[in-house]
Amino acid sequence: MALSEFQLISNYFTRQSVTRADVALGIGDDAALVRVPAGQCLAVSIDTLVEGVHFLSDIDPDDLGYRALAVNLSDLAAMGAQPAWATLALTLPRIDENWLGQFSAGFFALAQQHNVQLVGGNTTHGPLSISVQVHGFVPEAQALRRSGAQAGDLIFVTGTLGDAAIGLHLASHPHTVGAQHAQYAAQRWLRPTPRVAEGLALREVASACIDISDGLLADLGHICAASRTGALIAVEQTPVSQLFRAAGNGDWNLPLCAGDDYELCFTAAPQRRAQIEEIFRAFACGATCIGAIETAPGVRCVMQDGRPFTPEQRGYDHFRNVTP
Ligand code: ADP
Ligand code: MG
Repeated sequence: MALSEFQLISNYFTRQSVTRADVALGIGDDAALVRVPAGQCLAVSIDTLVEGVHFLSDIDPDDLGYRALAVNLSDLAAMGAQPAWATLALTLPRIDENWLGQFSAGFFALAQQHNVQLVGGNTTHGPLSISVQVHGFVPEAQALRRSGAQAGDLIFVTGTLGDAAIGLHLASHPHTVGAQHAQYAAQRWLRPTPRVAEGLALREVASACIDISDGLLADLGHICAASRTGALIAVEQTPVSQLFRAAGNGDWNLPLCAGDDYELCFTAAPQRRAQIEEIFRAFACGATCIGAIETAPGVRCVMQDGRPFTPEQRGYDHFRNVTP
């Protein structure tokens, strides 16, 4: 017999290892009851993943559960917020217990790493879609907004860029790189690491911050627009991985324009540079200075030899191929 909605929730979403003291009432009532620490803001963010748009039907449900939470935690990281709770709205075409078991395992594995408790959600029937909302804490004055960049500030990015796009490409073109590169690429695309600890460490250090979901130039463009500034990027300074060197064909459009890396792009006053280097000694991903904020609006890219670099496309437009 098919599982009822209530059995489904109880079997796959109520059992979790995280139980937080600030949750007065979790899953099971009409609403959850939670306590926000005195003097802090509640940082709230939601992201939806739709089958056929954000992932293909052959994706491993374990990866999907992980990724649905990861992209949301990345938004909290980019605000300098400490994650606390999540809610999950699932639209399922059918009840597949094997799928549910794997999906929830992927979700809870990452939730546990960040001490995030699932406190509620919604389950409906329809084409597969997953919405996760996350909630975190940050003192208002310490939140990393997009609007704080000033001319003269340096621009940094964490980790390496372009890997997720190569991972996505290799998913449909396997055997074009060695097994080790292929595995790294798949992880970077399917299991991005939200830079939560890095975001927290950047409170009171960064002047502005954003996570790179749509591509460096597009997302840095958002910082510039919100801050009413522009930016100059030294193209070859952009941090890239061994994977990019092996499979990227030297195409700088990948690290500059491709999305889904979920690294942080942040700005800071130049006198903060030593402090930032010190902070990132503790983080394996590192942070690289790639340019500076300028007064003139727009994001400009320059090569080492002085030639301007013109990117092929700015970010990924979800509606690019959709006719109205
Ligand atoms: P209501 O009809 O009052 O909105 P529901 O019957 O939809 O409540 O859900 C019952 C309880 O289960 C609620 O506490 C809700 O937050 C939770 N819930 C429903 N779906 C999920 C899910 N996919 N993950 C986590 N909790 C869920
Ligand atoms: Mg109700």
